Amino acid sequence: MLTNDQLAKWDRESFFHPSTHLAQHARGETPSRIIKTAQGSTIVDRDGRELLDAFAGLYCVNVGYGRPEIAEAIAEQAKELAYYHAYVGHGTEASITLAQMVLDRAPSHMSKVYFGLSGSDANETNIKLIWYYNNILGRPEKKKIISRWRGYHGSGLMTGSLTGLGLFHKKFDLPLAQVIHTEAPYYYRRADTAQSEAEFTAHCVAELEALIAREGAETIAAFIGEPVLGTGGIVPPPAGYWEAIQAVLEKHDILLVADEVVTGFGRLGSMFGSDHYGLKPDLITIAKGLTSAYAPLSGSIVGDRMWKVLEQGTDENGPIGHGWTYSAHPIGAAAGVANLKLIDELNLVEQAGKVGAYFQGALRDALGDHANVGEIRGEGLMCAVEFVEDRDARAFFDPARKVGPAIATALAGEGVIGRAMPEGDILGFAPPFCLTEAEADRIAAATAKSVAAVLG
Ligand code: PLP
Repeated sequence: MLTNDQLAKWDRESFFHPSTHLAQHARGETPSRIIKTAQGSTIVDRDGRELLDAFAGLYCVNVGYGRPEIAEAIAEQAKELAYYHAYVGHGTEASITLAQMVLDRAPSHMSKVYFGLSGSDANETNIKLIWYYNNILGRPEKKKIISRWRGYHGSGLMTGSLTGLGLFHKKFDLPLAQVIHTEAPYYYRRADTAQSEAEFTAHCVAELEALIAREGAETIAAFIGEPVLGTGGIVPPPAGYWEAIQAVLEKHDILLVADEVVTGFGRLGSMFGSDHYGLKPDLITIAKGLTSAYAPLSGSIVGDRMWKVLEQGTDENGPIGHGWTYSAHPIGAAAGVANLKLIDELNLVEQAGKVGAYFQGALRDALGDHANVGEIRGEGLMCAVEFVEDRDARAFFDPARKVGPAIATALAGEGVIGRAMPEGDILGFAPPFCLTEAEADRIAAATAKSVAAVLG
């Protein structure tokens, strides 16, 4: 077996890590952690150190680690048929069954599922389908996409443009010109602190209306948003937000894409965030929770009104010119089928809602009185603690102090993984749905200890 030292050397010399400070890593200035195995909510590194993973990888291992049912489904599929493509009408039992299972769980107006591999490529698919749709309808000028600041939709050229976080644009010549951003639905960070939540929602709506008026509704194809902002800070929407936003989109004939890569399949305590907040999207993006990350698989769920036009398009133009070699890969699909069955059998959607409420309560009990805790927020098993220099004045820390990352590092020292979100001093939590109340208490206590160590 390779030694840890050998692996660490190769890691620095050979491995280009995503979302990593490349130079520091290559110089060995940042700790690298090599994960060996995992069970339930706990991961174990090569030194044998156990860590409670309160972010479920990248909020994706929803059913928890080490589920034999999914591992066996993958092995059986690999033995029977490791691969066949899905082009020109081909399919496998797993891919067809999974499409049916996804639609059975999705809002009733959704019509078909296209399978990809990652959340990024699924959103890329969505934008192509939206452009195709408007071309078929004879309105080639209706192409711009509205996204929100702090939205996260991937890191490709188009999807990185949709993402509303500076780090994903800087030095990459993004965003592309077809993408425009509007106000983040982030009440705690509102510019006018005197605003009530309802007033802030009205402000978000007014900003959207103004953007549409400036650009011209005839140039805007779609609006994309996560039901709950994820990577941008884990922020549930202000009261009445989705209802009011959808009314504006309808008025201007603008399609809605619900990016449910994080919220899909139970994380909010509902099967989809669209059900949770009463969204009626034209497209739903799914990934992570579709297989609980046991295999890479994503999807674009297409609603009725778009599907009819896509059919019309192929009658007029021939087969749709879109597809990946690995679309609907049978191993991913087999993992998805086993994962969705497990979620049903163990009642994990309801469990996510229940343990999420308990966990938020535990965070409030442990941290609610700390002078540097500005807000504790969340929905289901998506929670965050936002740190501020002065709570009463809502004064944020200087980002150069990197308070959020320092707390996340201290927390790892306590044996718990949380995530320092990329913009702001925000510690995010999104544990597996099998999290126990005892584990929730442990995360809350370890967080309080880490906050005390960094901020006093
Ligand atoms: N959309 C959302 C809401 C996400 O949170 C993510 C990833 O975190 C993506 C899209 C991109 O997914 P992927 O990293 O699989 O490309």
